[in-house]
Amino acid sequence: MNDTGFHSPEDDVVFLDRLVGLPCPKCQGELVIASASGLKIAGCQQCHGLLLQKNVMAGLIRNRRATWPGEDANPRPVDPDELRESCYCVACEQEMETHIYGGPGNVIIDSCAQCGLAWLDVTELRRITEAPGNRDCTAGDLAGLDAHMLDRSEITWAAFVEAFVEAF
Ligand SMILES: [Zn+2]
Ligand SMILES: [Zn+2]
Repeated sequence: MNDTGFHSPEDDVVFLDRLVGLPCPKCQGELVIASASGLKIAGCQQCHGLLLQKNVMAGLIRNRRATWPGEDANPRPVDPDELRESCYCVACEQEMETHIYGGPGNVIIDSCAQCGLAWLDVTELRRITEAPGNRDCTAGDLAGLDAHMLDRSEITWAAFVEAFVEAF
């Protein structure tokens, strides 16, 4: 299958020209299938935010932090105004929880406990990756992620949705 897409330098993610069939929770854009270090996630064509399963996000962050080739960058302070910007889960349509991410980076993320989905605004993945702190990563941290690797030869809307939203 000959997918085209574009590389988003903000978070080092490749957005494919393949609609997920769900709208962006933050803007009027459409979600497309995206690849982050080979992991299958979704991203918004318009605002470049990222929607991913929480377990995938945890493994991706550990991997990105362990392999980050650049310098540490001190994160900017949390912007409390961001905590008031709520959004709705694209899967269950309930309001997502807006909270400070528990790891490095001082970023505010949105998550849905019911669906196990998380939303990262554009540049948040990079800010988490660059922030100082523990960069250890073990095989155990990445266990189970193989099932989430993006196989471009098998991308279909149905297969993606099955893997991505299997929780509901
Ligand atoms: Zn968007
Ligand atoms: Zn949900």
